[in-house]
This record gives sequence, C-alpha cells and structure tokens, in this order.
Amino acid sequence: LSTARNYERKIMAGDVQVGGKDLAIMAGPCTVESKTQIFEAAKAVSEAGAKMIRGGVYKPLTFPYGDPLGQPDADSGLPANERMRVVPRSEQDQAAEKRLGYMKEAAEKYGLAVISEIMYADTMDMMSQYVDMFQVGYRHMFNMDLVEALATSDKPILLKRHYGESLRSLLGVCEHFDARGKHDYAICERGVTVPHTHNVNSRAILDIQAIPAMAEYAPSVPVIIDPSHATFKRSYVAAMSRAAIAAGAHGLLIEVHPDPENAWIDPLQALGFSDFEKLMREIEAIHKII
Ligand code: PEP
Ligand code: MN
Repeated sequence: LSTARNYERKIMAGDVQVGGKDLAIMAGPCTVESKTQIFEAAKAVSEAGAKMIRGGVYKPLTFPYGDPLGQPDADSGLPANERMRVVPRSEQDQAAEKRLGYMKEAAEKYGLAVISEIMYADTMDMMSQYVDMFQVGYRHMFNMDLVEALATSDKPILLKRHYGESLRSLLGVCEHFDARGKHDYAICERGVTVPHTHNVNSRAILDIQAIPAMAEYAPSVPVIIDPSHATFKRSYVAAMSRAAIAAGAHGLLIEVHPDPENAWIDPLQALGFSDFEKLMREIEAIHKII
C-alpha cells in the first residue's frame, strides 16, 4: 500500500523513537490515580507492545467539579465535597511529583518512556526529572509562557491541537518552537468540532485528513493521533486507531486503564487491557503492510 508516512524526522523520547519507521504507541490512564494503578497499566501496555506510558498528574478539567451537564468526563471520581475543592498550587505540585515518581518507577520497571502533560511553566524543572516527553494539552497550545519555557527544554514536546483550531494555527506554534531553536517536537491531533457530531456525547471528530495534510505541509513533523479524546467513546477507539495507522500516523496516544468504567477521569473512552492488547495486534498487522 502507498502511504502518507514520512520518515524524514525522528525525535527521541528517552530511548523511544517518535517519527521515522517505528510506531510510537503511548498508552496509559488519563490520570495517575495510585501506585498500584500505574504499575498495572505499565505492565499491561508494555506487554502489549507500547513504548511509552502516559498519565496525567495535573488535570486541566473542563469544570473544577463534576460537569453540570452530567458528562462524566469532567467527573474527577472524588466525592462531591472533594471535587468542589480548588486545590492550591503547592498541594497540586506535591501530589503531582508523588504521582510522577510512581510513573517513572513503573516505567523503569517495564522499560517504557514517560509522557505527561505540563500545565505550568514553573513546573518544568521538577517534571523534567520524571518525564521523557512533555505533552502540551489542547488548552495550552497558545500559552506562550509554556511554549517559551519548553523551547529551552532538552525534552521533546507533544503539542496537541485545540479542537477549534486549524492546522495552520498549530503550525504557527511549531514555528515558534523552531524560531527559538527547538526542533524536537511532534504534533497530536485529538479531534475537531464540527456542526454535526455522530452522537450526543461525542465532543469531536477525528481529523484523519490532518495526517496527509501534515505530510504535505510539514513533512518533517511526526504526527501522533489521540483517538481517545477525539472520539470520547471506547467503542470507536480501535477503528479510529486502525484508520490512523493506515493513513500514515507515526503513533498513537491512547487511554488505557485497569478498570476503565471506574477511571477517575474520562471513564467512557479508556480501553481495558484485553481491548488494548487486541488493538495492538491489529495495528502491528496494518503497520507491516504500509
Ligand atoms: C490528556 O491527554 O489527558 C488530555 C487532557 O488531553 P487534551 O489536552 O487533548 O484534552
Ligand atoms: Mn483524558
């Protein structure tokens, strides 16, 4: 099969190549909830063939409490009085560093690289001790404090596109990195909003066309697809993952949880271990022929 895959640029996240011919599969829970949870997830995703563990330690929730519209994605899973509590930054930082420690320990045990979202520029040095790649969430693609700080980092960046922004705008942010001498970044497509979504819960539609478009306009930038946040729906994740790999994506960012229905955040989209294992076999088969 012909493919839009482009092998020009490879960046390194620890020992893991992102871009080039290898598939970079980044998998793990939305949120690092406990030491046991992240160790279980790291074991399962590494055995299935993923190269990186993902896990949020700072969570930029849409609402600071359970979603008033009842959408469970914004539900932190904590009791209402806990959810309503706005946690001061010092407490957030303490909890985040503890969870990053668990994730790094689990990653070392199972031979994985670590990716996690950075929300505050002043946490870059602390987080650098634990992560191999920084994720910039969609909300922060225009956060120049963060972009400027990350341009000085020796860790690679995964820059997520906001669901309402064009590829052109995203490439503008990439140019801000380039202009500051920072070239080891990849972009992540996680869905765009359109007038009609496929069901009432669906927040976004995966923009598969971004893959060939990036190959045309920014052939040197690896493209990672996040089918979990794009679909917001477990039963769509495998099909969109297969389509992304067939279209030439360099990798996937997928939410995988030991007990998906009870995930603190995003319980509707996380895959369980056996679903993820099955998906990895399918992806590998597709990757072999493109
Ligand atoms: C995430 O990957 O956990 C996340 C919050 O992503 P996004 O910024 O795409 O919502
Ligand atoms: Mn999530």
